[in-house]
Amino acid sequence: MEYRNLGRTGINVSRLCFGSLTIGPLQAGLSLDEGAVLLKYAAEQGVNFFDTAEIYDSYAYLRKLLRAFPNKDIIISTKSYAVTAEEMKASLDKARKELDRDYIDIFLLHEQESALTIRGHRAALDYLIESKEKGLVKAVGISTHRIAAAQAAAEMPEIDVIHPLFNIQGLGIQDGTRQQMENVLTGAAAAGKGIYLMKALGGGNLLPQADEALQFAFSRPFVSAVAVGMKTPQEVDINVLTASGLPVPDELKKRVSKALRHLHIDPWCEGCGECAEVCPQGALFLGADGKTHVRQEECLLCGYCARACPYFYIKVY
Ligand code: SF4
Ligand code: SF4
Repeated sequence: MEYRNLGRTGINVSRLCFGSLTIGPLQAGLSLDEGAVLLKYAAEQGVNFFDTAEIYDSYAYLRKLLRAFPNKDIIISTKSYAVTAEEMKASLDKARKELDRDYIDIFLLHEQESALTIRGHRAALDYLIESKEKGLVKAVGISTHRIAAAQAAAEMPEIDVIHPLFNIQGLGIQDGTRQQMENVLTGAAAAGKGIYLMKALGGGNLLPQADEALQFAFSRPFVSAVAVGMKTPQEVDINVLTASGLPVPDELKKRVSKALRHLHIDPWCEGCGECAEVCPQGALFLGADGKTHVRQEECLLCGYCARACPYFYIKVY
């Protein structure tokens, strides 16, 4: 496994970052022991960088990982939707308590949209900056699906890390093209920001071209690390090999591609119906709860609906 400096944070991260959303209750719902075993397996393969968020509900798995490797330098990045200083204090206290750790390596404002939204979260950001001065947080930043927010963060000296959505097809970038995002991130890296990507596999929608998509993400010069959600040891093996620039045996690829996959619609779906309009199978329907649902038995996993959702709420895993 190769390691890189995360911008000017002084934090050295493995190129493969384990995205822990996949193991928790919002996705695969692995038991605490199953999830912790998988995280430990990844750490044994050289992964030292683990991404989470307050909303992912995965701190308990990570606590087990930290306890299993008390002497290993495990880097945890988390994020919160906190707006006020009080809310951010509660988020930071919760993370430190549930991870059973005095400090958090990287703390991000979750899903920022623009300079305006970052300004709206100023009190929460200032609380993080004060916490950094006290040694409770080592680096602060934002996560975002938008070019406008990445641009704004690139221009803010107090931001250390940007965690942007970026993939080979630009799938899910909400306000422009892949090339525009790439230009902004290149400038951000030149300004010293640490950049680690999310959604390099387009929320599972790019799995049919997973090799190409991951190689593309790891090869971007502005990228320190790429966060990838994983839920089996075989997926860890494939991603560790790809992150290390090594070929993946066909047999391993076959075992992973045969795993049963489903379309998943995030519970915060707004029921706008744009996805259902493009489904060639008529597999999507509006439920009594006002959200769109899928008849899995009719779904071909073609991905058209994911591209149609303006909020990137449709994933495959
Ligand atoms: S993946 Fe394709 S078939 Fe399945 S619900 Fe979406 S558009 Fe319809
Ligand atoms: S397009 Fe997105 S928000 Fe709209 S109904 Fe479909 S999943 Fe929900």
